[in-house]
Amino acid sequence: DNVASQLKNPVVGKTVFIDPGHGDQDSGATGYGLLEKNVNLDIGKRLNSKLYSAGALPVMSRTGDTFDSLEERVNKGAKAKADIFISVHANANDNNSANGTETYYDKTYQSANSLKLAQNIQPQMVSALGTRDRGVKTAGFYVIKYSQMPSVLLETGFVTSPIDSNILKQSAKKDRLATGISKGVSSYFK
Ligand SMILES: [Zn+2]
Repeated sequence: DNVASQLKNPVVGKTVFIDPGHGDQDSGATGYGLLEKNVNLDIGKRLNSKLYSAGALPVMSRTGDTFDSLEERVNKGAKAKADIFISVHANANDNNSANGTETYYDKTYQSANSLKLAQNIQPQMVSALGTRDRGVKTAGFYVIKYSQMPSVLLETGFVTSPIDSNILKQSAKKDRLATGISKGVSSYFK
C-alpha cells in the first residue's frame, strides 16, 4: 500500500530545494529561549524526510549549524535544478502579541506558480500548528526574489510570541508541520 500510494504521489521525482534560514553566527530571530536558526533547521530536516518518503528528491541548503549568504542559497537552488524552492523561517516582532503563520512569494519570476505553491502550503501549516492564519503575502525577500523557479518563504510562527514559541518548542508540532508542508507541496504538483 505504501509503495503504491508513494508511486501515485505527484511529487515523485520532483527536486524540492529546502532552505532553512540563517545559521552559525546568524541566529535569526530570538525569543523565549528559541534561536530561529535552530527552529528552521529542525523543521527543514523533518520536511526533507517527509518529502523523501513521498518519493521527492529534496536538497537542503544546509544540514547543520552552518551559514550561507543569501546569494549562495539562491545559487545552490539553481545548481540543484530545483523544481521549487522553499525557504523556512520563523517570525519576530517587538510586540509579543504578534502571532501566527504566513507565507510569502515574490512576483519577479514564476509569479503565478509561486502564488499557487504558497496557497497550497499556507492552510496546511495553519492546520498542522493551530496558529493564527495571517495568509499569503508578497515581499521581495532575496531568496524568493532571485530564485528563478517557483519559490516561497514560510514564516512558521513568531518566536517572540508566548503562544507560537510554545508551539515551535514541541517536536510533535514541528513534525505535523513538516507533514503539512509536504502535503501542500504534493497538492501543488497535482
Ligand atoms: Zn528568518
